[in-house]
This record gives sequence, C-alpha cells and structure tokens, in this order.
Amino acid sequence: MKPAPFRYADPGSVAEALEVLAGEEGAKVLAGGQSLLPLLSMRLAAPAVLVDLNRVPGLDAVEVTEDGVRVGALVRHAELLAHAGAARVQPLLTRATANVAHPAIRNRGTTVGSIAHADPSGEMTAVLALTGGSVTVAEPSGERTVGWRDLFVGPLETSLPAAAVVTAAAFPALPPRSGTAFAEVSRRRGDYAVCGAGVVVTLDGDRRVAAARASYVSVGPVPAVHDLTGAVAGSPVEDADWAAAGALARTLVDPDGDLHASADYRRLLVGVLTERTLASAAAEAAAKAT
Ligand code: FAD
Repeated sequence: MKPAPFRYADPGSVAEALEVLAGEEGAKVLAGGQSLLPLLSMRLAAPAVLVDLNRVPGLDAVEVTEDGVRVGALVRHAELLAHAGAARVQPLLTRATANVAHPAIRNRGTTVGSIAHADPSGEMTAVLALTGGSVTVAEPSGERTVGWRDLFVGPLETSLPAAAVVTAAAFPALPPRSGTAFAEVSRRRGDYAVCGAGVVVTLDGDRRVAAARASYVSVGPVPAVHDLTGAVAGSPVEDADWAAAGALARTLVDPDGDLHASADYRRLLVGVLTERTLASAAAEAAAKAT
C-alpha cells in the first residue's frame, strides 16, 4: 500500500521543528523512518505533516565521558554499534544494538527514534531502563530531562506531548566491578526478539555478588528493571546460583502471548536467558575484579 497524503516539513533547527509541530494538528517527527514509514505505508498511521529532523544540525553526535554516553537524535544504530568509546563506557549499548534489526535498517534507523517509538519489542528501550537513562526533550516552553520511568506509558506510547522533539538520550556509565550481557531469541537473525534479556552484575571488593539486575525485550507493555540480587546476594562470584536468579526472574515477569510465542514460552525464555546472561556478565565482572 501507499501512505495517505501528507505534507512534508524540512526544518533547519529544533526551534523551527517545534514551531511546525505546535502549529499543525497531526504533525509527526520523522527521524530514520524505519518504523514510521512502514506504519504510513500500511495506513496504520496518517499524520497530516511529517517534520523531518534530518537536516537539523547538531543532533548527530555521540558524546562519551566517564559518566556515560549521550546519543544525539540523528545518531544511527550503525554508528552507535561501531563507537568504541560508547562500548567502553557502557557496553550494553553495543551488545544490545548488535541485535537491532538488519544492517540496512541499522544504517538509517536512529537509537533515539527507537526510544521515542516506545516499542516493547525494541532493544534500546530496555537498555535505557537498565542503565537508568533519560532523554532530553525540547518543547516550545524549553528543554527538560525525562527519566526512563516517566517516559514509557504503554506500547508505542510515551508521556511526551505531540509538540516535542527528543534531542538526545543519556545512558549512565557501567558501575565499577560490573559486567554486562545481552542475549535474545528470535525466529530469524535480525527479526524482532521473541524474548530478549539484558543484565548487569556488580561485585563487591571481595568478589561477592552485590547486585544483579535485568531488563527484558518483548516481555510486558513497557520496559522494566527487575532486581534479582535476592537470589545471589553475597555469594562468591564463582559459586553464585544463577539458575536461582533465573527462577526468580520467571516469577517477576508477566509476559503476553501472541502469534510468535505463548506467554508460558516467553516466561521459560526469561528464565533461560537470565541464567545464561547473568553467568556471562558475572564472568566479565570477575575478570575485572582480579
Ligand atoms: P522513525 O521511524 O522515524 O520514527 C518512529 C517514531 O518515533 C515516530 O512516531 C516518530 O515520530 C518518533 N520519533 C523519532 N525520532 C523522534 C525524536 N527525535 N523526537 C520525537 N519523536 C521521534 N527495532 C528494534 O529495536 N529491534 C529490532 O529488531 C527491529 N527490527 C526491525 C525490522 C524491520 C524489518 C524494520 C523495518 C524495523 C525494525 N526495527 C527494529 C525498528 C528500527 O530500529 C527503527 O529504526 C526504530 O524503531 C525507529 O527509529 P527511526 O529513527 O527509524 O524512527
């Protein structure tokens, strides 16, 4: 199918973009177009105006400090995937982005667009949650920071008003003595995950488990962070019972069933992926702690 007719705006600044968004009912931001354009073509969305950000200068930088990684609104998945500084400071970014779609889509789609799209099957919403991240939002009234907990309202729904541009997403750095892992199950490589898991394991100075947290993909309507520390707290890293943490995770999630997988199968995957990723993240943390 072809999209319903729409007008096209090509602003040269965030301020101009906001002017169009505030002045036109049914105006929508266009970033990489990898989610929005299929929705238009299937006529599941019919915005009156597309406000294309692609010529707005200053939105295409990845900024890395020891405190974290700031990803501008026009940074493509592929650029973030290849960014060595981002991988060093917050390895979950690289590990999760490697699972986002196929190279052609990663070349055009943006990390911030993924977050603004708020698809519970997207990897980057889970990573924003797991890292305790936030977005910078420009509105006609000014700029503000919105933490991940206040951002996601439901599937494909955020708390942001229509006249808003997400200019960047911020991902705090990995804490010291920590390791990460990310894994998912999909029908074909590059497809949306049937179920995915990202984890962070943090050790104390005696190489005992101090914290274990997980966030899942395609499990629940909005991203969530699950604290699994109770199952493994204080265990020497080599002896920690990751299967117990996986079993705990299964009790904490409430996945839906759909045509790709039943709720029970997703819950089973949560347990298996949690156990495996925690073991791998712990090995990484242990290697750093020696
Ligand atoms: P767009 O499509 O341009 O926009 C998406 C939505 O976000 C729109 O509502 C738009 O208005 C809004 N938006 C975008 N940017 C902003 C902004 N800066 N401020 C305010 N609102 C904004 N994604 C995954 O995470 N995992 C996958 O496995 C995956 N597989 C895919 C497979 C296929 C075949 C396709 C076509 C897409 C897939 N995607 C997947 C989606 C892809 O990652 C998209 O790039 C991403 O979801 C949206 O980013 P975008 O820049 O393309 O946004």
